[in-house]
Amino acid sequence: MVKVAVVEGDGIGQEVVPVAREILAAVRPDFEFFDVEVGYGRWERTGSACDDETMNDLRSADAILFGAVTTPPDPDYRSVLLQIRHDLDLYANVRPIRGDNVDVVIVRENTEGLYSGIEWTEPDRACTVRVVSRRGSERIARYACTLAKPRRHLTVGNKANVLKSDCLFVEICTAEAVRAGVPCTTRYIDALCLDLLMRPDRYDVIVTTNMFGDILSDAAAYLVGGLGMLPSANIGERHAFFEPVHGSAPDIAGQNVANPIAAIRSAAMLLSHFGDTASAAAVEEAVGRVIGAGIRTRDLGGAAGTREFGAAVLREVGRGK
Ligand code: ATP
Ligand code: MG
Repeated sequence: MVKVAVVEGDGIGQEVVPVAREILAAVRPDFEFFDVEVGYGRWERTGSACDDETMNDLRSADAILFGAVTTPPDPDYRSVLLQIRHDLDLYANVRPIRGDNVDVVIVRENTEGLYSGIEWTEPDRACTVRVVSRRGSERIARYACTLAKPRRHLTVGNKANVLKSDCLFVEICTAEAVRAGVPCTTRYIDALCLDLLMRPDRYDVIVTTNMFGDILSDAAAYLVGGLGMLPSANIGERHAFFEPVHGSAPDIAGQNVANPIAAIRSAAMLLSHFGDTASAAAVEEAVGRVIGAGIRTRDLGGAAGTREFGAAVLREVGRGK
């Protein structure tokens, strides 16, 4: 039995997650769900965004379905998301970009690189250390190769012509690809950003370091109709965390206009993670049929509300059974 911790979080997380959860519960009535509260709302109310007990609740789950949390510009506030990623050691950020003529998975290293946290400020300069470790690179390369093996090939996004740290990253990734028998090419990240947008059909699985992956995957959202469409997974050795790529979008929160597709697709990734690719495909297909029938939220040019879109997907999922 799969135990799923559900974190709605802040803003539109509270609207899109219930939709995704309902669909997940419909296809897998055997899953057990429990709610966990973290985020800015909780911080405002209680002075703590996430404590040790909450972390233990999250740790006890087989998977976490997460909405979004608002990170206010308050210096006393520590990002809950960074804390969860760190504490659960969620080293692989997986972002599938799927749409017409696009079927790409971006695998972003999630624990080091420019986000190593090693930085300091001097009177006349500020430094951030970009850490690429053998262990960190090996495990992300292995994860990416496992994904790429039944697919087509792997591209290693890098800047090894300038950065020593990326020479090591490329060396490790290409060696792992050879070992796994995965066809592999390397590409400089700047050229890759443009080429991915112009010729997405050339790409399949892309593995890259932390910040390059962040930028590349946001840019790639352009290919499939914006932030409301993109799901993601954060995977560790022992924990798995699924969330829409978008944030809490306070500007549209509470209005029933947020697009729940990214959250629904994140739930589909959760199903795949536990080997239920049939249910994952059924959910994806249901979303496709609803969009095809002209039911769309405002960001996609339609007039359907978050709840109405979710209800339509739920009906389609039921029909597909
Ligand atoms: P946060 O600080 O939590 O990241 P944000 O203001 O940066 O919040 P994002 O969620 O990152 O907001 O998205 C940026 C903008 O894209 C939002 O302001 C919103 O207008 C739009 N957007 C994001 N997600 C969705 C969605 N699911 N449906 C419709 N529009 C969205
Ligand atoms: Mg944002």
